[in-house]
Amino acid sequence: MTLNPEYCECPFCNTLTTHLNVMSYSLHNVESWSDGKVMDSNFNEYSNLLFTKCRNCNELFWYSETKKISDIELTRFRTTAEGNNAAQSFLAKHPDLLNATENIPVNSYPFDEHWFTMPDYFIRDLQKMLDNNSCNTLEKETYIRIKLWQHINDLVRFRKNTIFQHIKHSDGIKSLFNFSILKKERATQKHKKALYLSLSEMRINNLTRLCQIFEQNSSDIDNKRMLIELYRELKQFDKAQNCLKSIPSDNTFYLLFFSKTKLYLMQKSARVFKV
Ligand SMILES: [Zn+2]
Repeated sequence: MTLNPEYCECPFCNTLTTHLNVMSYSLHNVESWSDGKVMDSNFNEYSNLLFTKCRNCNELFWYSETKKISDIELTRFRTTAEGNNAAQSFLAKHPDLLNATENIPVNSYPFDEHWFTMPDYFIRDLQKMLDNNSCNTLEKETYIRIKLWQHINDLVRFRKNTIFQHIKHSDGIKSLFNFSILKKERATQKHKKALYLSLSEMRINNLTRLCQIFEQNSSDIDNKRMLIELYRELKQFDKAQNCLKSIPSDNTFYLLFFSKTKLYLMQKSARVFKV
């Protein structure tokens, strides 16, 4: 995995933080789910989020909307004193960066202390992003809503007594605390189920809004695939069936997903499944 550090400023309190941009990585043991979630045993799903939370003021914000400087730009400025206007004004505001970057905390959102309370902790933040008008484009709203959809599904995604994927895939933690994680995870099974039920209204509202978004361009095969799953998870089985029938028979995309969906529709099952 290639990571590129960036130093960015919280737009609310100006606190500096370090963000690691994932530039490239190779795929291993990929697992795909019917709600579009893709899991890779060597990749932490939180490594490449488009938004973060400030450790100082707890506000959530998009990386694309923050003032920042990349490590490459910083090095160029240090060695040649050259940089674009944005880099120059950023460094004028944060002159300490030119001397040391070690004192800036590495961004590890979602923060370590919430590792065992995910996905409920993360779900609350996603809902906050929707409530505080942070999603000023349809693209951003769709991004957050898909994450919300998949994280609510995480509460019922895995079989009983299996650990969350984000913990399972974190090798360092796994080797050190495997047993206690498992014990903790077993203890929270009931909590997860109760949480899933308590989020029912949020889940249905979110899926309904996602349907509206994807219906705007329902001839697109990717949108159609999403709509089939959304309708099925909303128990609108007839709509899912009709949408599935509208897929041209010579279509080879998502073949496995479509054939498995047929089986789940026959059983009138709204459960998320592994493709
Ligand atoms: Zn802040």
